[in-house]
Amino acid sequence: MANDKFYTLPQLKYGYGDLAPYISEQQLMLHHQKHHQAYVNNANAILEKLDKARLENLELDLKAVLKELSFNLAGHILHSMFWQVLAPVNQGGGGEPSGELAQAIKDEFGGFARFKKEFSQTAISCEGSGWAVLCLDWHTGRPILMQIEKHNVNLFPAFRILMVLDVWEHAYYLDYKNERAKFVEAFWQVINWLEISNRFNKTSK
Ligand code: MN
Repeated sequence: MANDKFYTLPQLKYGYGDLAPYISEQQLMLHHQKHHQAYVNNANAILEKLDKARLENLELDLKAVLKELSFNLAGHILHSMFWQVLAPVNQGGGGEPSGELAQAIKDEFGGFARFKKEFSQTAISCEGSGWAVLCLDWHTGRPILMQIEKHNVNLFPAFRILMVLDVWEHAYYLDYKNERAKFVEAFWQVINWLEISNRFNKTSK
């Protein structure tokens, strides 16, 4: 949509085939063009519905409308972030974090290996469809793990999200079938630590 009061599907900064073999071209294209696009379309449709109801003074089932808006809008925001925290191996994807982020992870988790294990377990054990998330509590400066169900359940308000991993089946089924743990392991090969460090540096105390 041209109007900026509505949402648009962001372009990826890499080609659909560039994350292979960790995420295949077909899997990434479907995820971005179909699943993410649907959240954008649904969020916009709800905003249009709200605009129309307010303009024409119509009744709304706000409980239902707001639940749907929060699901679709959070789906859009989380997917937009997910594309940014991925990078092809030949463009810096994979490896370990450095700088202040690495230090914060060490201070909180005791080391990168322990952090990787906890984040992976957060992702693998997420019940049904959801996300593993690393965020930063700006009150304490602590990096905190968060397990979001669907796109919007268990979110911590106002905590800056640094890193997200989509563990809905639609994110990995073509490549890994029902083996989520294999997808989670592959994710570490295409993680964009530069982006995550930038997010951390903008937020840290
Ligand atoms: Mn997804």
